[in-house]
Amino acid sequence: MKPKQIKIQDVTLRDGNQALRKPWTLEEKIEVFDLLTELRVDGIEVGFPSSNETEFIASKTLARRAPVGIPIAGLSRANETEIAKTWEAIQYANKPRMHIVYPVSDFSIRHVLKISESEVVQKIKKAVSFARSIVGKDVEIQFSGEHFGDAIENFAFTKEAFLAAIEAGANIINLPNTVERYRPMVFVNMVKEMKDFIGDRAKVSVHTHNDLGMATATSVECAYVGAEQIEVALNGLGERAGNTNLYETVIALHQNGENLGINFERIYPTAKRIAEMTGIPIGEKTPIIGEDIFSHRSGIHQDGVAKTIKQSKGAYRTFSPEFVGRKDAETISFTNQSGHRAIQFLLEKRGIVVPGEEIHRLFEIAKTISSNENNREITEAELVDLARGFALSP
Ligand SMILES: [Zn+2]
Repeated sequence: MKPKQIKIQDVTLRDGNQALRKPWTLEEKIEVFDLLTELRVDGIEVGFPSSNETEFIASKTLARRAPVGIPIAGLSRANETEIAKTWEAIQYANKPRMHIVYPVSDFSIRHVLKISESEVVQKIKKAVSFARSIVGKDVEIQFSGEHFGDAIENFAFTKEAFLAAIEAGANIINLPNTVERYRPMVFVNMVKEMKDFIGDRAKVSVHTHNDLGMATATSVECAYVGAEQIEVALNGLGERAGNTNLYETVIALHQNGENLGINFERIYPTAKRIAEMTGIPIGEKTPIIGEDIFSHRSGIHQDGVAKTIKQSKGAYRTFSPEFVGRKDAETISFTNQSGHRAIQFLLEKRGIVVPGEEIHRLFEIAKTISSNENNREITEAELVDLARGFALSP
């Protein structure tokens, strides 16, 4: 199924922030908000206004700062006091969105809420109707059934719970994989069944967590079974192993031909700044933004890379570094796994032309140095020095 326009809703300022060792100050939240608007996400959840005074003030400030037409969500639990407080904070946005959450899984109902299923439905109806009564008819209300992904035993009930939310005034149904416990297709099939059940009565959104490292895969596939909104976070921040990673999700959708409004070139600068602000480093092998992901060291790969380096589709990469705003071009480095091509490529890049047989000698020397010194990488500068030592260079 070809998705309709997919909306990217960012939850870094809420789900991401609540899991930080040191939650952001107002100034920091403003900076993150501005990074998100530059990145051109479709919507932003700014906080959990009723949780504390800082959150309230920050949510209110960001709502006032919001660009025209960008949904600004505030999260609230399903009670009237919190809903009223949330509305007080986000009503100043050009397009505020009330977001109410309440558990729906059998496990949570039995062991956490300890109430009956019909009481759960009553609670949802009451909360959403109250929200509708204070926000007016034109403001969006999003209802999240917490632990939807774990609601396997009571899935029939879950459908009724979401329908009750829609009938009480919700326009967006958010389906969270609050804790990732099962394989992606289990969740994707549940989302499909829910979409088939509610049809066009509300929009379907997904919100997945990365406990098993499959949040991106799960969310991306949901776009192909009817989800119109995906909730994501910068640098994959969020509770435990984090939320669905924004960068991976948008690049995966883009590479599969989907049209997004994202300013892709802002990805890398944004990721670096968020890493600085949180003190959470980016892993070298992290997709899209990792330091080492455009380096090629093995001989076979180097040959393919050198032959396709100017093309947008590279032999051994799925997108170019510039596309995500990286200044570090694709690099070929030399180790004892590398081929002749690496040396030739590195020297030619510097305008040094070396005859074929000399390249071969240089290659053997570089490889021997690497092997003798604990298989270390030979830098470009060292290769140039070696080439000069052989009087090969101009
Ligand atoms: Zn979450």
